[in-house]
Amino acid sequence: MTDPFMRAAIEQAKKSLAEGGIPIGSVLVIDGEIVGRGHNQRVQKGSCVLHAEMDCLENAGRLTAKDYKRAVLYSTLSPCDMCSGTVLLYGIPKVVVGENRTFQGPEGYVKSRGVELIVQDNAECVQLMQDFIATKPELWNEDIGE
Ligand SMILES: [Zn+2]
Repeated sequence: MTDPFMRAAIEQAKKSLAEGGIPIGSVLVIDGEIVGRGHNQRVQKGSCVLHAEMDCLENAGRLTAKDYKRAVLYSTLSPCDMCSGTVLLYGIPKVVVGENRTFQGPEGYVKSRGVELIVQDNAECVQLMQDFIATKPELWNEDIGE
């Protein structure tokens, strides 16, 4: 069963896919409430930095250090170097990942910096990425800098 926060992240991923974009979604949760939602905006906004996690954090707006320190970041896919770096920068203590089969960010390093990182291995998240990579490999390689 998919928890409601990962469900919300998957909804963001599907929204991106429906817009012709890359199907990765993210939500930021504080005290059991979603305070930001986002999805990859590479195609939609022609952005090189708005990965799902970055778009989510941007939509959550300016938060205090105290807020970030009790936040949980959900992402349908294992966060890349950029997004993991942002987690470390703001001291977000916990990251919940939908899947890391199709791509794996620097999870070992993130954990070594004291972040709790949980991988749910969600079948729907895997399917979304597998279908997308098979259909648009160039776009996917662009997103991960290859
Ligand atoms: Zn990223």
